[in-house]
Amino acid sequence: MTQPILSGLFTLVAAAHASAAPMQVSALHPLMADLARQVGGERVTVFDLVGEGGSPHRFEPRPADLAKMQSSALVLAAGKNLEPYLSRLKETLKEVTVVEVGRTLPSLMVGTDEDHGANPPHADGTVDPHWWHGVENMRRAARVVALAMAEQDPAGKVNYLLNAGAYGERLGQLQRWARSELAKVPQAQRKLVTAHHAFGYFAQEFGFEVIAVAGLNNEQNNTPQELAKTIAAVRLSGVKAIFPERTASAKVLQSIATATGASLGEPLIADGNGTGKEAGFEAMIRHNVDAITKALAAP
Ligand SMILES: [Zn+2]
Repeated sequence: MTQPILSGLFTLVAAAHASAAPMQVSALHPLMADLARQVGGERVTVFDLVGEGGSPHRFEPRPADLAKMQSSALVLAAGKNLEPYLSRLKETLKEVTVVEVGRTLPSLMVGTDEDHGANPPHADGTVDPHWWHGVENMRRAARVVALAMAEQDPAGKVNYLLNAGAYGERLGQLQRWARSELAKVPQAQRKLVTAHHAFGYFAQEFGFEVIAVAGLNNEQNNTPQELAKTIAAVRLSGVKAIFPERTASAKVLQSIATATGASLGEPLIADGNGTGKEAGFEAMIRHNVDAITKALAAP
């Protein structure tokens, strides 16, 4: 008569499993929140602290965010010095594991050829924090997140790794699609002029050159000298279009476009801050590839 007892036990175990509270994960970047959902699936509840459409550059945790992080098993940061407050945060959180998802991924430096005077995370000669513009990087990041989740929730390890693998496969398809779309852009037009130094990893992966533009960050004013230098560089490049960004003022880029005869492309999404249908990593890449192809491909 052991059979009914055993199967009863299994039912109990299964029920306990199904009703186990999901693991709480906090994210300090909208794209890390997206990644946590992709990898964690139903086993996790994700707190997107920056929030859809928000800028991870301008984010500073408030008391309500701290409370959410304190109750989380895991906090995901982008890393590569994107979050200047991270060491203070780690001290405050003590017991909570904070993972810098980008830490072990390959780094690019912000170009040293031009003095573009951007804010610290974008300053010349420092590590470019925008690693999420590489599709390959995001695929590796999925595994980093899977292992970090498994450490906190070993029972879910297989789930996390399977989810990361499935997501990685989808990103492989995205990468192939992006390559075939961008192949429509002739070699001479494979140049990206954008509002801030965010597209280095994208440019490297898809064979584009980033034209260093002086002080085009929306948070600072450009001197007339910087502007003149940028206009000269854009003219010299012969590029057909330049790209504003969703969350940045297009004013400076508009004046460069007027001075050079280049057209203004559709605004790109730089820091994962797309909203609605454009929220999340895959939608960001699709949007940017479409905008770039439309503006720079041969007619
Ligand atoms: Zn940025």
